[in-house]
Amino acid sequence: MISIKSFTFNPFQENTYIAFDESKECIIVDPGCYDKTENTILKNFIEQNKLKPVALVNTHCHLDHIFGNSFVADTYNLSPIMHQADLPMLEYAPLAARTYGVNLNKLPKVKKFIEEGDIIKFGNSEFNIIFTPGHAPGHICLVNNEENIILSADVLFHLSIGRTDLPMGDHETLIKSIKDKLLILDDKMVVYPGHGPSTTIGFERQNNPFLQ
Ligand SMILES: [Zn+2]
Repeated sequence: MISIKSFTFNPFQENTYIAFDESKECIIVDPGCYDKTENTILKNFIEQNKLKPVALVNTHCHLDHIFGNSFVADTYNLSPIMHQADLPMLEYAPLAARTYGVNLNKLPKVKKFIEEGDIIKFGNSEFNIIFTPGHAPGHICLVNNEENIILSADVLFHLSIGRTDLPMGDHETLIKSIKDKLLILDDKMVVYPGHGPSTTIGFERQNNPFLQ
């Protein structure tokens, strides 16, 4: 059974997730740890729970979701996994960091791309990858239908949706992603977003003002 641990990191209050199961293997999704203190918080959780990270997944490459890529890559000998369509965001990240006046360490090379239909396995568990562009051109979400878990990153939030005013964002594409790929999921599906509290597909279907 999958357990989800969330951390809120960096000046953008981004949610970093660790998904693990009884095997103790885990994946790290969108490591946003920004400084030594936040790196230590992430590392301590992994050590204290005797977890073995087997994948580093980026749902998309906005800088708040990749601040910790180099720390995680170096510490656990992992290369980031992402959708190829988000490479422009990865390349733009250093300029974005200068614009916002924040530090971004040298980013590790991406050696493997994923796309819709791919599966990410860890221990006895897995996530299906769905392609959900709009907030970012190569945005993906991680879904487990049996356990009703979706890591939605910056596609769907509690009572909100991802912004589309950033470079390569597109509002209509985002709405289509949410309606075609997320709202078809079970009402009980628990949504773990990239910012703010978790929610469910059923609650957002009923109450999210952007989806009425
Ligand atoms: Zn984002």
